[in-house]
Amino acid sequence: MVSIVENSVLTYKNFINGEWTESSANKVTGSINPANKNEIVGYVQSSSQEDVDAAVAAAKQAKKAWRKLSGAARADYLYKAANIMEERLSDIAETMTKEMGKTFAEAKGETARGIAILRYYAGEGMRKIGDVIPSTDSEALMFTTRVPLGVVGVISPWNFPVAIPIWKMAPALIYGNTVVLKPAQETAVTAAKVIECFAEAGIPAGVVNLVTGQGSVIGQRIIEHPDINGITFTGSNTVGKMVGQGALARGAKYQLEMGGKNPVIIANDADLDLAVEGTISGGLRSTGQKCTATSRVFVQTDVYDEFKEKLLEKVSALKVGCGMQGETWMGPCASENQLNTVLSYIQKGKEEGATLLYGGERPAENGTENGFFVQPTVFENVTNDMIIAREEIFGPVLALIKVDTLEEALEQSNDTEFGLSASIYTKNISNMFSFINEMEAGLVRVNAETAGVELQAPFGGMKQSSSHSREQGQAAIEFFTSIKTVFVKA
Ligand code: NAP
Ligand code: MG
Repeated sequence: MVSIVENSVLTYKNFINGEWTESSANKVTGSINPANKNEIVGYVQSSSQEDVDAAVAAAKQAKKAWRKLSGAARADYLYKAANIMEERLSDIAETMTKEMGKTFAEAKGETARGIAILRYYAGEGMRKIGDVIPSTDSEALMFTTRVPLGVVGVISPWNFPVAIPIWKMAPALIYGNTVVLKPAQETAVTAAKVIECFAEAGIPAGVVNLVTGQGSVIGQRIIEHPDINGITFTGSNTVGKMVGQGALARGAKYQLEMGGKNPVIIANDADLDLAVEGTISGGLRSTGQKCTATSRVFVQTDVYDEFKEKLLEKVSALKVGCGMQGETWMGPCASENQLNTVLSYIQKGKEEGATLLYGGERPAENGTENGFFVQPTVFENVTNDMIIAREEIFGPVLALIKVDTLEEALEQSNDTEFGLSASIYTKNISNMFSFINEMEAGLVRVNAETAGVELQAPFGGMKQSSSHSREQGQAAIEFFTSIKTVFVKA
């Protein structure tokens, strides 16, 4: 058991108008290591609404000069921040692992992705932002250009604490907006380390601001603040809907990326080893805490038994433990709340009559007793109307559902309020096309796991998984700018 050594734990401040600032509330909160609840990773400010107001005032002031810079000049700051982040990759990744539990290998991969996203959007500073449209007046020039929204509020979750803030901030900045970031409380130290890279890149005061604290206080003020022109949110459906309603009520632009209940279909002709690997990686990596995580596994009857046997063999060999230990494959849930949610869904699954095939408990291994660990869990005899097949669990829980035909698999896959990602394992081209055409999801993958988002491609969900907007790649320009149509007659 590690005891708390108060004086070796650092306190992180807000970043407002180019200064590291203590909250006016004069209150800090410890960020806990979910692999060992006795370890505090750092203290962060429990800010007040006044801190948000100060950050928004700074961002509003800074937006005039920032939007006047060329895209290439703004890009310089992103390239510099990327280079600084690259030097600190290991430290940032270690902080992420200690703060939210994903393995160090995954945390390093995510940090590297954050760096690549910064460089991708830096490049966007030199690419086209409009079109020439022939006017009916032969003496006129008509074209479109893009202008920034102004001040953008970013509200982010804890599951990708580097990649998500960056995939929102980088396009916001390159298109000329200034930013106020409110990261999830669970990962506010990691967020501070990301913002340090921008600060040390010399980004002008007020262009990037960080305010940490409770969603119901800081997030709520971002929703309501009249000087925030756009809000980009990733998180749960419950909070997302509040963000959307609040933004709509005052006419601000908003973008919501929310939950999923992502299916994988294993067809009769699938490469079963590949399908098992993709189901495990998609469903259990990061302890199932990805919005694109596989959760419902539809398996055709003829291969059901063989698939199940292969799956259980691999799942039972997965090493659960602290993400900083090299041999660990799966870390803890990110918080005690998250662990309790997962355990309560497992209980509901049993009560609903699903058969627990594997896991379902907190592990007994040495060294896991002080962490929020849960075993990788597999249910069978699940029907698509059970709660564990309908609600997002956000934990390492797979639900096996037997289906006779591909049509049945597709129908049930689509029978959900979510539509984020989906995958199929098959060698048959007509199966592939049926799946691509009929699956109601923003991301469909063939012979690949449901999780897996490339930074240069649009990302977002259908149905209740998003506000029907897309993030990342070239799609980001749609949210972070407004189109201005220009007509010029000499
Ligand atoms: P969450 O509870 O909705 O929190 C998201 C953010 O909203 C946090 O910063 C949170 O602050 C803040 N918040 C909470 N209450 C608020 C309020 N009343 N007003 C304004 N902001 C508020 O979600 P989470 O638990 O962090 O993340 C898990 C969820 O994110 C899952 O549903 C997952 O599917 C989804 N997700 C979606 C995507 C995607 O791209 N579609 C990607 C990743 C995750 P606190 O820190 O105080 O809670
Ligand atoms: Mg939360």
